[in-house]
Amino acid sequence: MLALLRTALLLAWSLLRVLAARALGQARGLLEFREAYRADGLLSLTPAERTVVDNARGCIACGLCALGTLPADARAGLANPMNLFLASSRSLPDYDAALGGFSAIDDATLERLEADCPARVPMRDLARLVRTKGTELAESRKAR
Ligand code: SF4
Repeated sequence: MLALLRTALLLAWSLLRVLAARALGQARGLLEFREAYRADGLLSLTPAERTVVDNARGCIACGLCALGTLPADARAGLANPMNLFLASSRSLPDYDAALGGFSAIDDATLERLEADCPARVPMRDLARLVRTKGTELAESRKAR
């Protein structure tokens, strides 16, 4: 019984502290949460950014963007686009590593690949997201 009372008092005290911190604008929970996960490469996404990643997950790995749509001379030196799209739709902590691959593909090429993609993967939006978040991630990892 005493343990139960003690637990209830501790919870009530914690609740009061949280409510007081919020009322005084001193709540840091969300900030600390973001900082903790930033170190692991998990950056927060806006709802629009989440939609881009969700739509990119529709990739069916058909290989069309890797093989069929670009002439051989245009493919020379490019990273395999399919691998970039697959990896980028599944692993946010690797966006800094994907920067090099996406820098080798310009938006005109992405637009062309996107038009032929049977899964309608938003390649240009995904590339923009990887470039933005990958740069942010690379800078935060450098600062550690
Ligand atoms: S063409 Fe579209 S569905 Fe096919 S591998 Fe490329 S991104 Fe995926």
